[in-house]
Amino acid sequence: MAGYTPMMQQYLSIKAEYPDAFLFFRLGDFYEMFFDDARLAAKELEITLTSRDTGKERTPMCGVPYHSAEMYIGRLIEKGYRVAICEQVEDPASAKGVVKREVVRVITPGTVVEEKMLTDQENNFLAAVTRRHGQFAVAASDLSTGEFYVTAISGDPQAVIDELAAYQPKEVVLDTELAEDAFKEELKLRLRTLITTPALPPQGERERALTEHFPDSRSVLTTPVLEEVAGLLLGYLQTTQKRALSHMNRIQRYDANRFMVLDASARQTLELTRSLREGKKAGSLLGLLDQTATAMGSRLLKKWLDKPLLDVHKIEERQQVVQALMEEWILQDEIRDKLKEVYDLERLSARIAYGSANGRDLLALQRSLKAIPGLKQELIQTGNPALKQIAEEMDPLTELADRIEQSIAEEAPVTIREGNLIRDGYDEELDRLRMAKREGKDWIARLQQQEREKTGIKSLKIGFNKVFGYYIEVTKPNLRYLPEGRYQRKQTLANAERFVTPELKERERLILEAEERSVELEYQLFLQIRDRIAQEIPAIQHLADQVARLDVLHSFALVSGKYRYVRPEIKDDDRLRIEGGRHPVVEAAMGEGEFVANDSDMDGEHRQVLLITGPNMAGKSTYMRQVALITVMAQVGCFVPAKRAEIGIVDRIFTRIGAADDLVGGRSTFMVEMDETRLALAQATSRSLILLDEVGRGTSTYDGMALAQAIVEHIHHHVGAKTLFSTHYHELTRLEKELDRVLNLHARCVERDGKVVFLHRMEPGGADRSYGIHVAQLSGMPREVIQRAQGLLETLEGQAETAGAHQLDLFSFGSEQPADPVEQEALRALREWDLMNRTPLETVQFLFEWQQKLKSGG
Ligand code: ADP
Repeated sequence: MAGYTPMMQQYLSIKAEYPDAFLFFRLGDFYEMFFDDARLAAKELEITLTSRDTGKERTPMCGVPYHSAEMYIGRLIEKGYRVAICEQVEDPASAKGVVKREVVRVITPGTVVEEKMLTDQENNFLAAVTRRHGQFAVAASDLSTGEFYVTAISGDPQAVIDELAAYQPKEVVLDTELAEDAFKEELKLRLRTLITTPALPPQGERERALTEHFPDSRSVLTTPVLEEVAGLLLGYLQTTQKRALSHMNRIQRYDANRFMVLDASARQTLELTRSLREGKKAGSLLGLLDQTATAMGSRLLKKWLDKPLLDVHKIEERQQVVQALMEEWILQDEIRDKLKEVYDLERLSARIAYGSANGRDLLALQRSLKAIPGLKQELIQTGNPALKQIAEEMDPLTELADRIEQSIAEEAPVTIREGNLIRDGYDEELDRLRMAKREGKDWIARLQQQEREKTGIKSLKIGFNKVFGYYIEVTKPNLRYLPEGRYQRKQTLANAERFVTPELKERERLILEAEERSVELEYQLFLQIRDRIAQEIPAIQHLADQVARLDVLHSFALVSGKYRYVRPEIKDDDRLRIEGGRHPVVEAAMGEGEFVANDSDMDGEHRQVLLITGPNMAGKSTYMRQVALITVMAQVGCFVPAKRAEIGIVDRIFTRIGAADDLVGGRSTFMVEMDETRLALAQATSRSLILLDEVGRGTSTYDGMALAQAIVEHIHHHVGAKTLFSTHYHELTRLEKELDRVLNLHARCVERDGKVVFLHRMEPGGADRSYGIHVAQLSGMPREVIQRAQGLLETLEGQAETAGAHQLDLFSFGSEQPADPVEQEALRALREWDLMNRTPLETVQFLFEWQQKLKSGG
């Protein structure tokens, strides 16, 4: 450091403490950056790189003006950088030597509270992970809303990543042990988020800070690993924010086992909160269900979809409210209008606690509180007990609202430093100063009149500017009417002169003094008011919770009404029975009545595995997803797109559905496929739901088919999970006969006017196997080609049968039963029945005959 100017030495020693952040070093009206920070910032922010003589050399430098810094900081944060804000912490005028400077806050992607850097409808989570004796724990916080969650997770790193995926954290803090681990790399790959391994105070100190900050931490954090993770997260927040985070006042511990498990892949393929193709909310289930009126509601809805419930009673509680709101459809609009008057109470609370709330924020709080009594009234008026109960939980904090109304001026400006934000009549001293100011101004207005009369100059006027203060202005032709002596010349303009008099100067002093003092007093009063409100933050947050919950349930009611959803019956068993089910998102995108409804009936006893065959585009994967989505909707408390539904609680959904190939970097489709399927086999329980789409397709026909069969058998014999399995391998349909709980379904197609029409109807039985050849025929392919293909198909099938029988030995579990000869004959006839080239009547006749034969046993 030797050789640098003292200020540069100060810079270097502060920068050494923040090596991984841009140091915004306050110099007068600018934040300056130096060295590598300057080079990188100039590039990232597209600002000019200059240099400055720092005693030893010319040092690269760039800077941004103080008043527009937020925008530049926002851009750096968005790119995943951190910014340390270093302020002058003493008055430069009274400083001896170099002005004292300190970092007052480090802004990072996971610790943003600035309104402009946040998305209204999304949380901004910061997460932390620790491991102790093989046990993991995850904590997550949103500084902009004050939420703080912790949960313990078994020793499975995969489960940790799945849990984190639900939060979509902007930043993850790891303890030093995990930072060295392969876990970190896996996390980077899967979550693509900023990973931080900060140097924090020692464990003991962190624990002390924890109990100090959360008085109830001891009773909530019951195991060491929970304590550690909460301490890590809080420690990081405190070292970066350097202030009391009073709005973050409760730790919410939850048991991850109390929610349906949805891993990252299931969330993606089911498009719960983002669409697959565009990664946006539009086109996802969230996009469809989100008719909320407040940002709080919107964020809560996303949290619910990320964690569907397992508790029948809790689900029913939500359903009751949805039902009540649907029955009171006349009031739906009124309730929505009232909800719309409520601002984002969570983020307002955070700004109040942070000391960044201005007069308008307090007014927004007041207006929100004012809307509550009306909202309660609407709910109570229905007479519905569920709605009444919600109303009773809401405290409109009347006294707080009144206090704001009486103190804050209706037209409060954005800044809190320039006055005009406290109401007249709130504070005597302020009123006195304002009176003095007004009187002074009246005096000046009178003075203008008197001076005109005295001098006879009609155009004489008194004006004000920031440099000269008050002045008397006289145009050049009138100057000769001015008496000598009393008027001091201040400024000469092109066609006028400006003067002052001693009395005018004296008045000016009084006015300016009163103004300055009143502005300062207003500022002080405002801080007092804000601090008092800050003490009520827990009550505001409680109200925010109630409003958000009502908003989400109201949104469910709106959507359920619009699309004619029904209330599913929730049961603690393993049956899924859906009558006339629809895919909510596909249906909403289509015209009314265009979506073809389908039934599903699954259980662990007779109908565990549905094997679905049918050509591409026939609706297989839509059908599979629809079952999963209906389950999720049911378990978050929403109504479902069906005629009738009975949902036995599903504990976890596994998916292996195409199109995820490009989403997971570097692994081949087949590897991803096998990996996801392996997970399902290993972790599913009899209460889980597994969707497997064309598994095995990624490899050659025979080993793909063999794998597919082995997987179905394993699920059937050992896992017991309800499974929807779509496949191209027609040969697998024979499993229906071999395994008790396997059923065939196929997506029905017909020919109409020489074209194949997908009916999108799922019907029992396997699909017509020579389907491809039929399509080719319809397309006008030459007759010889079609005939040749038919012939080849038969030969290949012959081979497949032998090969299949051979492979069957390898993979079967010896549970086959010799089939009844009539049944075999019937099946053969059915397989060979040329559905596409027969009339419906012929087909019915054919079925009728075979049914008779089967009934009579030949
Ligand atoms: P597959 O998985 O059999 O290839 P998809 O499930 O992807 O077929 O469906 C193909 C298209 O058919 C979908 O994009 C959708 O537009 C339409 N579709 C699927 N199911 C239905 C249905 N039940 N009713 C109406 N259209 C449907």
